[in-house]
Amino acid sequence: MIAEEKLASLSYPVMPQMVSNEFPGRRAQEVIQRALQFQSPTRPSVKGRIVVESGYGAGIQDPDGNILIDLSAGVAVSNVGRNHPRVVAAIRDQAERLMHSAGLVNETTVALAERLSACMPEGLRGECFTWFGMSGSAATETAIKFAKAITGRSQIIAFEGAYHGVFHGSLALTTRENFREKFGPLMPGALHMPYAYCYRCFVDLKYPDCGVSCAKYLDYKLSTPNTGADDVAAVIVESMQADGGYIDPPVEFLQMLREICTRRGILLIIDEVQAGAGRTGKMWASEHFGVVPDMMTWAKGIGGDLPLSGVTVHKRYQDKLPLASQVITGAENALANVVALANLDILLDPQDNLIERAALFGAEIKAELAAIAADSAILDDVRGRGFFIGVELVADKATRKPLEPKRVGAILQRCEQLGVRIMACGRYGSTIRIMPPLTITKAHFREGLRRFAQAVSEVEHAQI
Ligand code: PLP
Repeated sequence: MIAEEKLASLSYPVMPQMVSNEFPGRRAQEVIQRALQFQSPTRPSVKGRIVVESGYGAGIQDPDGNILIDLSAGVAVSNVGRNHPRVVAAIRDQAERLMHSAGLVNETTVALAERLSACMPEGLRGECFTWFGMSGSAATETAIKFAKAITGRSQIIAFEGAYHGVFHGSLALTTRENFREKFGPLMPGALHMPYAYCYRCFVDLKYPDCGVSCAKYLDYKLSTPNTGADDVAAVIVESMQADGGYIDPPVEFLQMLREICTRRGILLIIDEVQAGAGRTGKMWASEHFGVVPDMMTWAKGIGGDLPLSGVTVHKRYQDKLPLASQVITGAENALANVVALANLDILLDPQDNLIERAALFGAEIKAELAAIAADSAILDDVRGRGFFIGVELVADKATRKPLEPKRVGAILQRCEQLGVRIMACGRYGSTIRIMPPLTITKAHFREGLRRFAQAVSEVEHAQI
C-alpha cells in the first residue's frame, strides 16, 4: 500500500493555511465580480466564495495565497489529486505529438476503450464497447438514446434524488427542482421511483424488515396496466446516490433492480459518474452490490476534470445500434485520453493500491466522524464507503428534521474561513459529502475533518 511519505510528496508539504484575514480576499473578490458580470447566471458556484488559482494534491490555492484542504476533490473529480506528476508528464508528452485527432481514428482512444473494457466489473469486462463524450450529462443523453434504439421502447425510469446531468434528456431524469424550473418541457417519458434512502424512508419503514419496499414498488408500478409499463426502455440508477444525499443503499436494492429489469426485458443503466473511479473503495461502486449493468455511464474521476465521459455497453447490443454518426466534435480528445490512461494506471497500480487504501482509511474516517456526530446535537447518520461519505445535518435528531439552509450555509462558510473546502448535497441540501482525492494524506484528511467539526460546533453553539 502507498506510503504516507509518498503521498505527502504529491501534496502541499506543510499544513494548508489561510493567509488573508478576510475570506475571500481582495483578489478573489475581484475575480468573483468579473465572473458575475460575464459568466452565465446559471452557474451557481460563480456566487460561491472559493476562487482556485492553483492546486497541488489535495490542496487548492486562491489568488490571495490562501491554501485550503479540498475534501471535495472538485466535485469528486480529481481522484488522483489536481496535478499528479504522472498525469502532467502524460499531457506534456502527448501535447508535443498530437492534441486532437479531429475526426480520425487515434490510438489513444482505442487504447482507452481497451483499457476500460479490461477494468469493467466482471460480466462487462472484455465484453463491452465504449462511446466517448465530454461530460456526464452527454453520457446520460447517449445512454438514453442507446436504450431507446436497443429496445424500441421510449420511457426511462430514474429515482427521486437522482442527478444525471443538465441537458434535455438527462435533466428530465434529474430531480433537483431548482435545476429544472423554467427549462421545461423536458424529455417526455421520464418517470421517478423512490431510491433506497433508508434514513428518510418514503413509507417510514426500517431496513431490513421493510423487505426493500422501494424496489418492490418499482416492480408493482411496472406491472400496473395502462401506465406505459410495457414501453419502458431502461432503468437508470446511481449505484450510490451522490447529489441526492451520498446514500449507500442496501445491497438488495440494486440486486432487486437487476432482477426486475432482467425479468421484464428492461435495460439497467448504472451511473458511475460520481461514485466510480475507485472513490468507494472498489473501482466501480456497483461492484459492492455484485450487480452488472447493461450499460455504464462514467466521467469525472476517469478524466480527472478533462472533458471526458463515456457510455460502456455490453457487446450483446452492438448490432442493435444504428451505424449513424453519434460523434461529438471535440470528444475522443487525445489529451483527455492520455490523462484517463494515466489516471487508471495510478488508481490501479497494485503497489500503491489507492483504491484499497480508500476502503480501509475511509472506514476509519467514518468511525471518527460517527464519534464526532455522537457528541453533536446536529450531526447525524454517517454513511458511505471509501472516500464517499455522507453525514446528515439535522435540526433535531429525534425527528430528523433537516437543518435549516441558513445554518448549513453558515457551516460551509465557516469551513472555508478555516481553510477546508467541503460541500453539501441532498434533497434538503443538508447532507455534507466528504469526497477528497484518493491521494490525500491521512494528516490532511484528519486536519480537514477537525476544521469541519470546529465549524459545526461553532454554529451549533452559536444558535445561528
Ligand atoms: N451523473 C452523476 C451521478 C453526477 O454526479 C453528475 C454530475 O455531478 C452527472 C451525471 C453529470 O455530469 P456532468 O456534470 O459532467 O455533466
